[in-house]
Amino acid sequence: MNSPTAPVTQDVLTIARDDAQETDKVNLVGLTRAQMRDALIEAGTPERQAKMRVGQVWQWIYQKGVRDFGEMTNLAKDYRAMLGETFEIRVPEVVTKQVSDDGTRKYLVRVAGGHEVEIVYIPEEDRGTLCVSSQVGCTLTCSFCHTGTQKLVRNLTAAEIVGQIMVARDDLGEWPKPGRNPKDETRLLSNIVLMGMGEPLYNFDAVRDAMKIAMDGEGISLSRRRITLSTSGVVPEIARAGEEIGCMLAISFHATTDEVRDTLVPINKKWNIETLLSALKDYPKLSNSERITFEYVMLDGVNDSDEDARRLVRLIAGIPAKINLIPFNEWPGAPYKRSSDARIKAFANIIYKAGYASPVRTPRGEDIMAACGQLKSATERARKSRREIEAEAGLSSGRS
Ligand code: SAH
Ligand code: SF4
Repeated sequence: MNSPTAPVTQDVLTIARDDAQETDKVNLVGLTRAQMRDALIEAGTPERQAKMRVGQVWQWIYQKGVRDFGEMTNLAKDYRAMLGETFEIRVPEVVTKQVSDDGTRKYLVRVAGGHEVEIVYIPEEDRGTLCVSSQVGCTLTCSFCHTGTQKLVRNLTAAEIVGQIMVARDDLGEWPKPGRNPKDETRLLSNIVLMGMGEPLYNFDAVRDAMKIAMDGEGISLSRRRITLSTSGVVPEIARAGEEIGCMLAISFHATTDEVRDTLVPINKKWNIETLLSALKDYPKLSNSERITFEYVMLDGVNDSDEDARRLVRLIAGIPAKINLIPFNEWPGAPYKRSSDARIKAFANIIYKAGYASPVRTPRGEDIMAACGQLKSATERARKSRREIEAEAGLSSGRS
């Protein structure tokens, strides 16, 4: 197991350092209703009661945030004891939590095997968005993405994905009182974006199951419209995402020619721009209120010309779309620079004139390396020399 690593910056709050306790109990978190039913029956729950028991346990776990079977007071004592012997309610262990000057929170959590992933919570005026990871690292190697430089990769389980939401709710103190599930828009955690580490469509089943749990009306109860899955363009899985998850879709587009996209988002060599766009035209849930978000990272001198902006507009014609311009977030050793503000403005203006909203995503949590594309697990970072780590810390604290 990993030995504890020294905090990188002083504002790192060390919450827990023990390795995750791995037991042979079955974790109820992350099971679909059908899977939970099977598990309860196998543990001795009479079949005719199973559906009701699932409903009860589900509410305790996902509506009330209970982690101890002893607290499930509408279940008989013996039954609670049986549950406690056979099952557990386990979420990823929070290793550190950092809070940015702008209120963004970044959690480093440890999952089975000692792997670590990051979760970012971004509070905004009208919403609170949790940026959830789907994999430890990423098998893809987009050249502008810090996560893509991390070698260590494994898929997260559904439990580890939905567990990220539960961990954030713990920290935000947001487990509503029974019968008083606040409306989505007034919740601290009102939106989810699958934009953390990993390519969600390369971990389809676990992502789907976790999002289904998050959407379940008797639990976390988030509307599918408040969940956005971002993909680099895994074309064969896009239609399935529409059919089986039904959430909003964001595409890491980032370039307007195959030549440039091949270098930025190498999956383009497998499924090029034309193939990707035709899959998007077929996305079953398309309608004006459910537009696809095209994410476009602004890289100085690489993809940010007026010609690029015009080409982008031509390419996506006919697809109900929003374009989200993301100023490049730098990371140590990154091979690109962020486009200038004037260039981003000029680019945005062309898009705006073509009839698209063209919001520029304000980088959040940069001082704690929590912005898009900056995530990389600390186990990986710990492999760097002390000097590199200090330089990194100096870089972040030096920001105004
Ligand atoms: N793997 C998925 C989701 C995670 S990345 C995907 O690629 O879509 C979330 C978004 O951040 C993607 O659009 C990604 O391309 C972008 N991104 C990655 N690195 C970035 C960086 N350094 N600066 C700005 N955006 C970045
Ligand atoms: Fe993976 Fe997305 Fe980063 Fe590309 S941008 S390396 S797909 S996490």
